[in-house]
Amino acid sequence: MQKDIATPIRTKEILQKYGFSFKKSLGQNFLIDPNILRNITDFAGLTRESGVIEIGPGIGALTEHLARASKKVVAFEIDGRLLPILEDTLSPYNNIEVLHQDVLEANLPVIINEKFSNTEDVMVVANLPYYVTTPIILKLLESKIPLRGIVVMLQKEVAERIAAKPGTKEYGSLSIAIQYYTTAETVMIVPKTVFMPQPNVDSAVIRLLKREKPAVDVVDEKFFFEITRLSFAQRRKTILNNLTNGLKAGKERKEEIIRALEQANVEPSRRGETLSLQEFAKLTDALHPLFS
Ligand code: SAM
Repeated sequence: MQKDIATPIRTKEILQKYGFSFKKSLGQNFLIDPNILRNITDFAGLTRESGVIEIGPGIGALTEHLARASKKVVAFEIDGRLLPILEDTLSPYNNIEVLHQDVLEANLPVIINEKFSNTEDVMVVANLPYYVTTPIILKLLESKIPLRGIVVMLQKEVAERIAAKPGTKEYGSLSIAIQYYTTAETVMIVPKTVFMPQPNVDSAVIRLLKREKPAVDVVDEKFFFEITRLSFAQRRKTILNNLTNGLKAGKERKEEIIRALEQANVEPSRRGETLSLQEFAKLTDALHPLFS
């Protein structure tokens, strides 16, 4: 088998050969530790029948591990300078397709249909560019594409917010948006030393497995996310305060909001961070006839 791309020596060789310079604005921090890559790949639970979407292959460090463990890898890379490099480094593999595209612009349902018709499942596995981790994850979940799940490296602080439970300071509208669609867990904390160049923040790997159906039933998903977002607008304020400030004509309709809170069994003096997804769902349903 070919020497791993992700050893510090081989990575330096590749970068030198192509005179590649990192673009900080594209979140380019490449992994240089094959053990971490093996772990990320293992966490994804791939089989030889799996399809994998990778976001940001860089010089192919993770891509080759994914290709060895799955049936097919489709990788989105925004930086055109990396395409000739990837063609070289990934030449031993015949089950990888690199698309020169911003993943945020990509039509994922069409691409999944086209590229993964003969795979048993589809996982997203990536060392994400840190400047766009949240928009990428939300796009993957909101576009309702048939994924089994997502295993990604991101900033430790964002991982903590995503997997946070009610009553903690990390819990917020991001935790709710993601836990609505998935079971979320942090599976590994990763030191800065395994990247080139080293990022300024600590990193973690999270595993998000798609639920068969959302965690709670709500009458209107969009309104549910709107209520959770408003409830955390000012974390130190009570839920009543945030809702009267955020909902349309909320100040004049305070009494109605209090009644909706009572109907949902939520004390108006509580803070958003103490409400479970179930409580937010009940509250959404109580407010919906009044404000949607
Ligand atoms: N997978 C490689 C590794 O682990 O060594 C590189 C990971 S690096 C953190 C992020 C990669 O994402 C870079 O290659 C960068 O050019 C690419 N990237 C940044 N923004 C992107 C976007 N919007 N769509 C697709 N790729 C992007």
